Amino acid sequence: MRIDLHTHSTASDGTDTPAELVRGAAAAGLDVVALTDHDTTRGHAEAIDALPEGLTLVTGAELSCRLNGVGMHMLAYLFDPEDPALLAERELVRDDRVPRAHAMIAKLRELGVPVTWEQVAGIAGDGSVGRPHIASALVELGVVDSVSDAFTPQWLADGGRAYVEKHETDPFEAIRLVKAAGGVTVFAHPAAVKRGRTVPESAIADLAAAGLDGIEVDHMDHDPATRARLRGLADELGLLATGSSDYHGSRKTCVLGEHTTDPEVYGEIIRRATGAFPVPGTGGRRSA
Ligand SMILES: [Zn+2]
Ligand SMILES: [Zn+2]
Repeated sequence: MRIDLHTHSTASDGTDTPAELVRGAAAAGLDVVALTDHDTTRGHAEAIDALPEGLTLVTGAELSCRLNGVGMHMLAYLFDPEDPALLAERELVRDDRVPRAHAMIAKLRELGVPVTWEQVAGIAGDGSVGRPHIASALVELGVVDSVSDAFTPQWLADGGRAYVEKHETDPFEAIRLVKAAGGVTVFAHPAAVKRGRTVPESAIADLAAAGLDGIEVDHMDHDPATRARLRGLADELGLLATGSSDYHGSRKTCVLGEHTTDPEVYGEIIRRATGAFPVPGTGGRRSA
């Protein structure tokens, strides 16, 4: 059983529509895929409608959080999408995306980069505009060679020259809200140093004590030594250890199912969740 618990569609900053994403997941031989767009669940309905037979969809989101000035991402799975408290918090985060993108573009222009709002908005299309779209614009302009080269202190990494802070949720509050909505939380790529500062292990222990369910261990931004260390930490703290592609379509180089989650860990996630059930694909023969 192949399980990929972290992907993005055009509902946030991926390049595949939710329908393309689930079809691609089936074609990649996955049995389970989670759709975890940034701070939104709006891709779920389309993904469910297009879900191929034999593929199960785990509904989720990747919540933008900040702890002591350090940006971090919290994956949330199988929460009730209508939970009012969680909805209100997600809206606070999302409403901030457009003004923030404008502010980062202004900073880049001050740095002499001729990027425009029109260019970035064109790249984002229907998706909610974010840093990866600005990064793609920098690639188009020949300022950097790749999107990941834009996520450095010189440009768009947290604290970088063109970085602008956003409203982000306190991760302890995120854990509390997701749990109250019947969901499960997994700290995404906790040691992805290339993206900027990361939180210390002591903070992961504090989050575990506050009810965090797991940490993402097998991720493209973790080297083998980091994965071994995180796996040990997960064992020590009683946390689930997940793996995923963090697929963004053609915006990043990884492929669906590049890293996967152990079926036993997946089983534990669905046992803990009470807000929503995984959705089995019926190949379009869904009854009303
Ligand atoms: Zn992330
Ligand atoms: Zn992600």
